[in-house]
Amino acid sequence: MPRCTVLVVEDEVVIAMDLQATLIELGYDVQAIATSGEEAIQQAAALQPDIVLMDIHLGQGIDGIEAAQQIVEALEIPIVYLTAYADEATLTRARETLPFGYVLKPFEPRELKANLEIAFYKHQFDQLLKSNRQWLLGVLNSISEGVAATDAEGLIKFLNPVAEGLTGWSEAEAIGKSLEEVLRLVHEFSQELVENPVMQALKQGKIINADTNMFLANRIGETTPVIPSAAPIQEAQGKTAGAVVVFRDMSEQHQLQAQLEHNAMHDSLTQLPNRALLFDRLQRAIERTQRSPDSGFAVMLLDIDRFKFINDTFGHTVGDELLVAVAPRLLEQLRSVDTVARLGGDEFAILLEDVTDPKVTVKTAQRILHAISQPLPLTNHELQVTGSLGIVLSTSVSTNASDLLRDADIAMYQAKACGGNCCELFDQAIHQQAKHRIHREGELRRAIAQVAFQVYYQPIVNLATRQLVSTEALIRWQKPDGSMVPPDEFIPLAEELGLIAPIDQWVLQTASRQLQTWHPLQPAQAQPLKISINLSSQQINQNASLIELENALEALGAVRQNIRLEVTESVFIKNIDRATELFRRFQASGMQIWLDDFGTGYSSLSYLHRLPIDGVKIDHSFVAGMDGDPNKLEIVRAILSLCHILNKDVIAEGIENNAQRLLLMDLGCQYGQGYLFAPPIPADQIPLWFDTGQETPAHSRSSR
Ligand code: C2E
Ligand code: MG
Ligand code: MG
Repeated sequence: MPRCTVLVVEDEVVIAMDLQATLIELGYDVQAIATSGEEAIQQAAALQPDIVLMDIHLGQGIDGIEAAQQIVEALEIPIVYLTAYADEATLTRARETLPFGYVLKPFEPRELKANLEIAFYKHQFDQLLKSNRQWLLGVLNSISEGVAATDAEGLIKFLNPVAEGLTGWSEAEAIGKSLEEVLRLVHEFSQELVENPVMQALKQGKIINADTNMFLANRIGETTPVIPSAAPIQEAQGKTAGAVVVFRDMSEQHQLQAQLEHNAMHDSLTQLPNRALLFDRLQRAIERTQRSPDSGFAVMLLDIDRFKFINDTFGHTVGDELLVAVAPRLLEQLRSVDTVARLGGDEFAILLEDVTDPKVTVKTAQRILHAISQPLPLTNHELQVTGSLGIVLSTSVSTNASDLLRDADIAMYQAKACGGNCCELFDQAIHQQAKHRIHREGELRRAIAQVAFQVYYQPIVNLATRQLVSTEALIRWQKPDGSMVPPDEFIPLAEELGLIAPIDQWVLQTASRQLQTWHPLQPAQAQPLKISINLSSQQINQNASLIELENALEALGAVRQNIRLEVTESVFIKNIDRATELFRRFQASGMQIWLDDFGTGYSSLSYLHRLPIDGVKIDHSFVAGMDGDPNKLEIVRAILSLCHILNKDVIAEGIENNAQRLLLMDLGCQYGQGYLFAPPIPADQIPLWFDTGQETPAHSRSSR
C-alpha cells in the first residue's frame, strides 16, 4: 500500500523540520514544506498530496484558513489544521473550510497520527460517496425518459435533463417547488389538471402507472403527451423519503397514431377527406338541419370530363398529378367550414354548409367549374379540363347521406349528358325517371336471362282477297303477372343497353322454327308463307353482333328463302356502302330486305332506287291520316307510284278500316296489315288463316 503523502504548511522552519521528522517517523511521506499560504496553494496543486497539514498563523500573506479554503475549493484535498490557537473566532472561521482534523500544539505524535488517519479515511470515503452519486446522476441524466424526484412532502429534489427539457424548468429553479407547479399534468382534451401519480404514490406507498392520455404542460403552456409512472422512495426503516416519477415523451407515438387516424379518413393522393369522413360530416349536417330546419346544406358531386381519355393518353402519373392540382382549385372556392372530399377516381364531393338559397349554391358550382377549367400547370404538361357537377339540396326528399350522394350522382350524370362543363340541380322527376330506368334495366336483364318473351304474329294479307301472304313476328315481354309489355316500351332500352342482339336473334330463331312448323299445315297448292322479322339497326352497325347475326342466318339454311328482314332507314345512314354490300349478300342467300316505317325517317324517295331492298312498308301514321289529310294521301300516292316504277313491293301498315283498304287498293297498293284484318296474335292462331279468303277469321280479332 502506498504511503500517505502529506504537504506541511508551517512558517517556522525549525518547527517544520521537526514536524517533518515526526511525520516520517509515523510512516508518512512528506512531499514538501510550504512556509506561506500562497506557496501552500501552489504546492498542493503541483503535488496533489493526500492531506495538507496546515498551520493557521503564517508570517506574511494569506493565513492558513484562507489558503485551506482555496485548496478545498479547487482541489478537494482534505485539510488538517495544526495550530496553537483555539479561540472561538479562529475555530469558527476554520470550521467553514470543513477541515478533516484540528490538532492543537503542542501535540502528542500519537494524537497527530490518529487525526491524520481519520482524515485520510474519511476523505476516501467521501470521495467514494461522491463518485457513486456522480455515477447515479450520470445514469439518471443519460436515460431517455424524464425523471423527477420529490421529498416526502412532494417538493422537487431532482430533475434530470430530459425532465428539464419537457417541463421547461431547470433543476436549480425547480428544487424546492411543489411538484404540481413543475410537473403539470393535464387532460388531453379538457386541458384540466389531473392528479399527479406522485401524490398517489406518496399517499398509497406503491407504484402508480398513470392513465395513458395525459399531457405534460410545460412552463409556457405547451403540451407533450406522456405516460408517467411514479414510485415511493422507501428508506431502510420503511419510512417514505419521497417519490420518483418517470415519464416518457410519447410525441412520436402520438404523431404516428394521429397519422394513422388521418390516413383512415383522408385520400392518400390529394390529402382531401375521403368518403368515410365526408359521410360523417354529411351525417352531422343532416342532423343539424333536422334540429334547426332553417339551416340547410348542399352536396355536390364533381366528375372531371373525359378523365379516362387523359389517363389513357398521358398516363396515370399525369392523371394523378391532375387530380392533385384540382384539389386546391376546389378549396380556393370554398369556405373553411365546407368539405371537399375525393371519393375515388376523378370523383370529388363537396359539402356546402349553411346554405339555403339554391341560387347561391348554383353560383358556387359555376365558380368551381370555372376555377377548374383554367389551365393546370403540371410537371411536363399544361392541361385544361372541365367538370360536370350534380347538386342536391338539403330540402330534397332524401334524408340520409347515401341517398343524398346518389341524388347528386344522378344530377351529375344529367350534367354529363348535357355535354359536360355544366352543373345540374337534382330534381325529383329526374330521380323518378332514373329509378324507373334502373328498375326496368334490372327487369329486362332478368327477362333476357329467363327468356320471358313471346313472339306474336300479325297477318299480312292481300288487300283484295284478304288472303294471308305473310306474317310479321312481333316480340312481347311476358311479365310474371301474365301481362304483355309491347316492344316500344323495351326495345329502345335494350338498344341503349346493348342488349338488343340476343333479343333479335332469339326472335329470329323462334320465328323461323315456327315458320317451319306452319309450312306443312298450308294447303298443298298455296305459296309457302313468308315471315317478316324486325332487325335493329344496332345489330347491323356493331361488328360483333353482326358476325353473330350472320352466323345465325347461315345456320337457318333453306328456310331463309321465306324470310323478310325488316330494317329502318337508319341502317343506311351510318354507312350506306357497308349496309348495301351486306344486304346484297343476304339477298343472294335468298332472304328479302324490306324498308320498315317508310315515311317517318329520312324518307328520301330519291335514293330509294339505290337501296338493296325488295319492298317498302308504309308507316301506319300515313295510312291512318290518309283519309283526312291530303298531304298524307299524296305522300302515300308518291311512295306507291315510285315503288311501282322501281318494281318494289309495298305493304301498308296499320290499316284499321275498310275505307283505308279501298283507298290503298285504288292507289295500287297490293298488301297490308292492320287491325282491320288482325292484330298480332299468338302462333297457334295463324293456321286458322291458311284457308281463308275474303273474310277475316272470327276468333283472331279478339286476341290481340
Ligand atoms: P313495326 O315493325 O312497324 O311493327 C308494326 C307495329 O304496328 C306493331 O306494333 C303492331 O302491333 C302495330 N300495329 C299493327 N296493326 C296496327 C293498326 O291497325 N293500328 C296501329 N296503330 N298499330 C298497328 P308492336 O308490336 O307494338 O311493335 C312496335 C315496334 O317494335 C315494331 O314496329 C318494331 O319496330 C319493333 N319490334 C317489334 N318486335 C321486334 C323485334 O323482335 N325486334 C326488333 N328489333 N324490333 C321489334
Ligand atoms: Mg316491322
Ligand atoms: Mg312498321
